[in-house]
Amino acid sequence: MSFSCPHFAVDRDACLRLKTDCVPGRPGCVLEGSGFAVPVAQRLREREEENQLRLRPGKNDSMVSPPPAE
Ligand code: SF4
Repeated sequence: MSFSCPHFAVDRDACLRLKTDCVPGRPGCVLEGSGFAVPVAQRLREREEENQLRLRPGKNDSMVSPPPAE
């Protein structure tokens, strides 16, 4: 079974209801209190770590395409 949330903005990978990252089961989520195999606190921590890595200057330089050769 799968779940499609009407509050999920696919283009931004974010929650329109909470105006932050979609982490199903987080406080305020329509799925709050539902059972998840991985605890919500752990998934929130992991998402925060991902966001920190994404925002760290120079960390994603290798993923940026080089400018076109002239
Ligand atoms: S956090 Fe919850 S309410 Fe928000 S988009 Fe994700 S599943 Fe839906």
